[in-house]
Amino acid sequence: MEVNCEGCAGCCIDWRALAPDPSDHERRGPREPLDDAYNFVPLTRGDARDFLDAGLADALTPRLWRDESGVETDGVSLAAIDGRPAFFVGLRKPPKPVGPFDADPTWLPTCAFLDPTTLQCRIHDEETYPDECADYPGHNLVLGQETECERVEAVFGDDRLPDGDPPEDLDGFLLGPQALGEKVFVFPDPERLTGVVARAAADELTDEDRALFVAAAVASAPGTTTVNRDRFESALSEARAADSWVGRAIAEWEERAAEVGSPAPDPAVARRVEDERGAPETPGWDA
Ligand code: SF4
Ligand code: SF4
Repeated sequence: MEVNCEGCAGCCIDWRALAPDPSDHERRGPREPLDDAYNFVPLTRGDARDFLDAGLADALTPRLWRDESGVETDGVSLAAIDGRPAFFVGLRKPPKPVGPFDADPTWLPTCAFLDPTTLQCRIHDEETYPDECADYPGHNLVLGQETECERVEAVFGDDRLPDGDPPEDLDGFLLGPQALGEKVFVFPDPERLTGVVARAAADELTDEDRALFVAAAVASAPGTTTVNRDRFESALSEARAADSWVGRAIAEWEERAAEVGSPAPDPAVARRVEDERGAPETPGWDA
């Protein structure tokens, strides 16, 4: 596998607003995500733990799914396992001023950790770099599914996937029962989600709401639906206390942003919004 990522970041940005015929690949099949995110990055339990330990839990957000045969909360029937709502934990995508594929700067939902000026990942060399990102697009190649690289190629040209042979080692590759408690989690106390699910469906989750899911993921046991109660409560306290550069930058981006797809200021404004708050720098493509 070999990818050509310079000037792309197609798997880190929701670039549907730039596409004449946007992909809907995450919303096919019987379970539809409650959120509207594109290229959601599902974290492993270990990844979630690393973000929590690094004080970055305020960068995380859940994904729940609608499922007619699931459990109902706030009038929404949710996909569930053993009667409890199932979820992923992933990375938040605030609107940022970015110009992927040589586009003019545009407000687009962008991974909290993508540097808008270089279109490189700020945590590429850190403990927190998610398995899913390290492996991408390896899972798709193993499963014979279309990759984001190919979707970008189809719209903007360039050879984004010079070598599409599946890689041999994929750390975060978990399917079916293997994923339970490792990448697919269950929320232990559905009553505690009253009001939360309605806010999730309205894209109005609060920091407190998001912290609940981070805590449940970290307190999960691999291969089971068990969630350790004491671990949940201590992780919840840690997640609630997160007040990182990334959480503060997200709040400012959300306040400043115009409509998704509309012209944006020079991405260099990120130096003040992100770098000056302590975001790790990226080397640029000449490095
Ligand atoms: S979509 Fe493919 S080529 Fe583009 S940044 Fe992601 S991995 Fe790289
Ligand atoms: S963590 Fe880095 S590689 Fe992964 S989606 Fe975010 S910016 Fe992209």
